[in-house]
Amino acid sequence: MKLRRIQDLDMDGKNVLLRLDLNVPMHGNEISDDTRIQAALPTIKYVAERAKRFAICSHLGRPKDEADLKYSLEPIGARLAEVLDKEVVFFSEYASRPTKPVLDQMTANQFMLLENLRFHAGEKANDVEFSRKLAAGFDCYVDDAFGTVHRAHASVVGVTQNFEPAQRAAGFLIQRETEVLAKLLKSPQAPVTVVMGGAKVSDKISVILKLLDVCNNLLIGGAMAYTFLKFKGVSVGNSRVESDSFGLVESIYAQAEKRNVRIMLPSDHIAASEFSESSPAIAVVEQDIPPGLMGLDIGPKTVDEFSRVISASGTVFWNGPMGVFEWENFSKGSCGIAKAMADSTAETIIGGGDSVSAVNQVGLADKMSHISTGGGAALEFLEGKVLPGLRVLAY
Ligand code: AMP
Repeated sequence: MKLRRIQDLDMDGKNVLLRLDLNVPMHGNEISDDTRIQAALPTIKYVAERAKRFAICSHLGRPKDEADLKYSLEPIGARLAEVLDKEVVFFSEYASRPTKPVLDQMTANQFMLLENLRFHAGEKANDVEFSRKLAAGFDCYVDDAFGTVHRAHASVVGVTQNFEPAQRAAGFLIQRETEVLAKLLKSPQAPVTVVMGGAKVSDKISVILKLLDVCNNLLIGGAMAYTFLKFKGVSVGNSRVESDSFGLVESIYAQAEKRNVRIMLPSDHIAASEFSESSPAIAVVEQDIPPGLMGLDIGPKTVDEFSRVISASGTVFWNGPMGVFEWENFSKGSCGIAKAMADSTAETIIGGGDSVSAVNQVGLADKMSHISTGGGAALEFLEGKVLPGLRVLAY
């Protein structure tokens, strides 16, 4: 699918609506990680230099379809004003009052920020009327919110129906994300290693099956590894196992055999007697986990084995932590994988979500070739789905 690009849009003298993913982690009123703001800057600056006036819209958190000031975008407006060196015009009444007169009053050094889109039920419902109100007053629409392109929401899909196809375009972030992920599917540098972790096999089965078509090695950690180990007849103690996913695991092994993909599972573990942050970490030096213990991270031997495969790879894609990385005692496996990826000469792609937090935790983000800003969107893209937010930007 070829996307219309922001570079091909004539914004001269036009009012531009810019959909971004400014869903940054907040601590009260403070932004605790501004990665998404930084990632959006090239597109914002590009629009700011060309458009007559522009407005930014985004969602933040999960308000329940009504105004909830805990999720206000106001603090984000303040940060944007600072980094752009412009004045923010914060507009929250776009669903009840026309935006155009406010845009017309703005000066060249101002930009508009719309209040959280999810304060309105029309956003998630992809409501036609809400979409029309969002679009009113604008001549062009630019989407750079990669993290939401898999959602058919008003600001992603419905709104575009109010613009001619030639007046909509993808920003730089969406362009880069889709290029990197499409290359992973079509022409990755071999050998290709996929590192999968996280909670559930069932959540990731489609993407694993798809990636088996392109990879040489599949390294499995996280809770999902225990379902694989149990399927293989290994003792897993009290570790989390999805017994109803054995059929999925079987299909993964069948596909891997057909494609000649090596699947590696943890050979040692960091375990605990309870699922608790304060539980002491217990090293289990073999693959079998004794009764009464649960595996909460991959062990150091596994980190070594996985790291050796990573360092001999041409491309590495990682999604999902190797353990309960939120708890220090069980974070070393994920940190070890992040370090191995940072040290390798491979093209390294972090597939969004918790693996991004793990990489940030060890301060190695700038050592990766690409960190996806959209976990769910990246996985759905890799599954081969046509994402609704991309379809509306396509030629
Ligand atoms: P996901 O969203 O599927 O990538 O899953 C991420 C979650 O999986 C994180 O919150 C981890 O704490 C959790 N997780 C990873 N490894 C384990 C494990 N061995 N046991 C229980 N939870 C785990």
